[in-house]
Amino acid sequence: SREWQLLSRPVGWPEPGDFALVEAEVRQPAAGEVLVRNAYLSVDPYMRGRMSAAKSYVAPYELGKAMQGGAVGEVVASNADGIAPGDHVLHFGGWREYATVEAKHAVRVDPEAAPLSTYLGVLGMTGLTAYAGLLRTAAFKEGDAVFVSGAAGAVGSQVGQLAKLKGASRVIGSAGSAEKVRLLVEEYGFDAAFNYKDGPVSRQLRAAAPDGIDVYFDNVGGDHLEAAIGSLNRGGRIAVCGMISVYNSTEPAPGPRNLARLIQTRGRIEGFLVGDHYDLQPQFVSEVGPWVASGALKYRETVVEGIENNLEAFLGVLRGDNTGKMIVKL
Ligand code: NDP
Repeated sequence: SREWQLLSRPVGWPEPGDFALVEAEVRQPAAGEVLVRNAYLSVDPYMRGRMSAAKSYVAPYELGKAMQGGAVGEVVASNADGIAPGDHVLHFGGWREYATVEAKHAVRVDPEAAPLSTYLGVLGMTGLTAYAGLLRTAAFKEGDAVFVSGAAGAVGSQVGQLAKLKGASRVIGSAGSAEKVRLLVEEYGFDAAFNYKDGPVSRQLRAAAPDGIDVYFDNVGGDHLEAAIGSLNRGGRIAVCGMISVYNSTEPAPGPRNLARLIQTRGRIEGFLVGDHYDLQPQFVSEVGPWVASGALKYRETVVEGIENNLEAFLGVLRGDNTGKMIVKL
């Protein structure tokens, strides 16, 4: 069984030499454990943070050990009650072909109810992030005008469509290519979208949202955040989900220069972590599951094949190679 290990902590953009794909022994499950043959691996922006030694909300990856991440696969051996060989589970032993995991940290999923990969994306962690961030942190309400960055990605594409389905007055998205911008408007039903590489975000946002915005769902940070504060209406809310534009920075990035606008707008900026919102999971699945099944909420996946391409897939997320959730298929 092969697994990816972190050999050295990247400074700036990760280099292939910081990682190695190594052969490891498959450990049979001890009491309370199951052995899983992984079928799909998740690669996510937050993994960049775990490659650094800095203290954060998840422990750094240990050097010379298998990295971790979301994964779904089939149980091939079980030493735990309630999970049998042939079952499919969602767990955190990603970046490897076989994983021996504690059954209490594995969640059974049904491959008949939805494609297995969707438990990593539209019906999984990124989907719940969109749901919790929009509805709870940003306190979205009908009639709000919503702006979301990273809008063609896993979280962002779901935020925009959820807002539309729940009665937003206007939904605006930004993304990094003309192709993605077209997808947002033509397939996902955004009212307006722009390519942030085409010109200043503040100018493009003002043109796309002449009446301002009530909610900004931030996946990017930097000039996007400053532009959103500049367009915020009275009582506006900004949910800080991610700031991918600074994940490879070696120096602290400058903050928004227009924070004083929060006074006149009575605006609020609040960060959130999906891990604090798993109480919403049943509500999320019962509300969003049928929309996904009926096609009312669309999703894309960018699927990269082979464990040997796991690292490239991860780097691709940081570069913007993906449309929708980036998935590695084994
Ligand atoms: P995505 O599917 O959105 O992939 C990341 C995208 O970010 C890329 O496709 C790329 O698209 C865009 N991007 C990369 N660099 C930049 C840049 N410098 N400026 C603007 N856009 C850039 O990933 P996810 O949906 O998984 O995650 C989206 C965000 O949500 C991330 O910031 C992530 O860290 C955060 N997150 C936070 C969680 C939480 O609990 N708070 C949970 C899950 C995710 P493009 O071509 O448009 O540039």
